[in-house]
Amino acid sequence: MGRVSGRELRALPKVHAHVHLDGSYPLAAVQALAARQGADFEVPDSFPDVWDFFEAYGTVPELVRSLDDLAGLCRALVHAEAALGVLYLEPAIEPQLYARRLGGIDTVARTMVDALAQGAEEAGIEVGANLTVNTDQDEPIALELARTAAALAGPGVSGGTGTGFWRGVTALGTAGFVEPAGLARFVPVARIAQDAGLQIVSHAGQTGGPDSILEALDVLGATRLSHGVRAVESDELVARLAEQHIVCDICPVSNVRLGVSESLAAHPGPLLIAAGVPVTLNADDPLWFGHSVLDQWRIAREVWGLDDRRLAGVSSGGMLLPGMSPRTRSVYRDSLAAWFTAAPG
Ligand SMILES: [Zn+2]
Repeated sequence: MGRVSGRELRALPKVHAHVHLDGSYPLAAVQALAARQGADFEVPDSFPDVWDFFEAYGTVPELVRSLDDLAGLCRALVHAEAALGVLYLEPAIEPQLYARRLGGIDTVARTMVDALAQGAEEAGIEVGANLTVNTDQDEPIALELARTAAALAGPGVSGGTGTGFWRGVTALGTAGFVEPAGLARFVPVARIAQDAGLQIVSHAGQTGGPDSILEALDVLGATRLSHGVRAVESDELVARLAEQHIVCDICPVSNVRLGVSESLAAHPGPLLIAAGVPVTLNADDPLWFGHSVLDQWRIAREVWGLDDRRLAGVSSGGMLLPGMSPRTRSVYRDSLAAWFTAAPG
């Protein structure tokens, strides 16, 4: 990337809404945890395919030996994201990855949300959570996750810190690399979450094409997409996403690293943005891909050529996330106006 002048991107208000907890702990925190166990933790330079990535991904939860370890990593993530100018953080949490060793799904989920709430209070940013189901797992565990998500939905569930920064579990997500995902069997899971007021957010349009997006929207009832970039294979679908304000939480570096997109320059992000699809820019798994949420914005400026007016327009899409409180939406709007009014650097 070359140097392109413009307003300071760190000061641009950002949401970070597609960021898997276990793939996003700060590297130094994970290395410190590994060191305490006499182990090394290294990040590979590349992943030949998504299954290699999936295998590597599982090594981090394995390092977490106690609820205290887990809480420390959650708080470290919130602090790191706040330092990048994130005003609203909504990590995808998967308590099932730790449940067997650390006391069950409910115990682990409550530890995660309490730590995220504490981090939010300390760092002064708003935090929600997307409790995520793996579509390559069986339905019973997904149902248990949905019930846990419903129980932890909404503000004030984390022990009553009363700060207002913790929004509770705000969404139920689906993720997985098996295509087709067969989402019909997860409809009862989604209904539990919807009845609790949670948004359904599906990984689709990443390893799967437009059909995977239609399945997420029309079968499962998703109203937001994790990725969604392969919508560009269908003009009709792109038009629908724009018209229905379906937010796509896109992840440029992740898409290149996992072979979804040939290069950053060829990434579909600019096409979606030009078509009026609301997008957020995300790191997906910054621990593994080595690029922060701030780096995705640098790419939008320096590789995609978006000027500050377009960048501000993209940033404004983050305010569509229903998990964001009215108070934070107001702060976000003012902060965005202040950023754009400031003289370019
Ligand atoms: Zn993802």
